[in-house]
Amino acid sequence: MNREEEARRLDETDPLPTPRDEFLVPPAPGGRFDEAAYFAGNSLGLQPKAVAGLLFEELDDWARLAVEAHTQGRRPWVDYHELAREPAARLVGARPHEVVAMNSLTVNLHLLMASFYRPAGTRTRIVIEDAAFPSDSYAVASQAAHHGLDPAEAVVRLRPRPGEDTLRTEDVLAHLEREGDTVALVLLGGVNYLTGQLFDIPAITKAGRAAGAVVGWDLAHAAGNVPLRLHDWDVDFAAWCSYKYLNSGPGAVAGAFVHERHVRDESVPKLSGWWGTDPAVRFRMDPDISPPSSADAWQLSNPPILALAPVLASLEIFDRVGMDALRAKSERLTGYLASRLASIGGVTVITPPDPAARGAQMSLRVPDAGGLTRRLAGDHGVIADAREPDVVRLAPVPLYCTFHDCHRAADALTDALG
Ligand SMILES: *Cc1c(COP(=O)(O)O)cnc(C)c1O
Repeated sequence: MNREEEARRLDETDPLPTPRDEFLVPPAPGGRFDEAAYFAGNSLGLQPKAVAGLLFEELDDWARLAVEAHTQGRRPWVDYHELAREPAARLVGARPHEVVAMNSLTVNLHLLMASFYRPAGTRTRIVIEDAAFPSDSYAVASQAAHHGLDPAEAVVRLRPRPGEDTLRTEDVLAHLEREGDTVALVLLGGVNYLTGQLFDIPAITKAGRAAGAVVGWDLAHAAGNVPLRLHDWDVDFAAWCSYKYLNSGPGAVAGAFVHERHVRDESVPKLSGWWGTDPAVRFRMDPDISPPSSADAWQLSNPPILALAPVLASLEIFDRVGMDALRAKSERLTGYLASRLASIGGVTVITPPDPAARGAQMSLRVPDAGGLTRRLAGDHGVIADAREPDVVRLAPVPLYCTFHDCHRAADALTDALG
């Protein structure tokens, strides 16, 4: 059996067949296969076929019922976000009243920091990773400035050891042990966007809270990628977007988690809007808010139904397949890609080799990332992405990537680097 046949055999015999048929896979921009081997789902996930029908139903309700669709639609708009609650809670390991689908990711980070970043006395710092996604860097710096602090002092950026590409958990824990009494907030990415490193969320959360800090997580690259137990891990708050591993389309409505202990605490300050009041009294139009004891209290506006419908279609797939089964498949797929990459000369993998310390991503350090991704796409129909100057990311997303796609990626890299 040659390698291509071997990969096809792995697809045929895997205990969780890839539900690729449920997605619209773009045509290959080059190479000998019709469909792209799509490895950019950590940037924008593919469109589930079920999205168009759901979206059309909302357009149709709008056409037929107009304002009445708020209460008379197939899925009444006034509590449309309720439909995302249970599946989102299962996805991130939360109790239903701890999650809410709203806004976009960076907006949610700000709303949650408005509540949970409360610098006081000498406890003013925000700990992030040096390799944080830029939006997170900007968000925390502006929060510090908003409190009248100098971001250069208030924001601590944890760096890997010299010569290493990823942060060691022990170093994060040691920092919290040493400097913990100056830390107001720890805000890390559950899975780092650049390296694909999966952090030890429970250990870091525990250490941060033990040090007296609030611990929040940006789960942009973790939600839909790895199993999460936010409630049991005692995470204070979290936020994620829905267009990466969650396949809900560009700018889709994001998610937020607030731990039960905070949703019940009326002393937590919030930035409020009318969707954050108790729905039973919302239309009394009272000037004073009556927030519910749930993450819904952080909602501001009535939700964008057209950006929320795809989230429902996507969450239905995760619910049906199950995050644990998907993660097991993901480890097999990423493991296969990792083993194929290991035999290609000139490839340096910066993603942790331990499957427990990474999600569905392999990041490679290469000389000309942009040029390489263009050759992969144009010559082989393999869609990866470049983070200039020297990182190429490949996300073998188990909902639609196959072992054969991983074979194509390995073959394409062998050719393009040869
Ligand atoms: C993708 C990503 C974002 C993007 O933020 P938006 O508000 O959705 O535009 C922010 N943070 C991280 C860590 C990301 O991976």
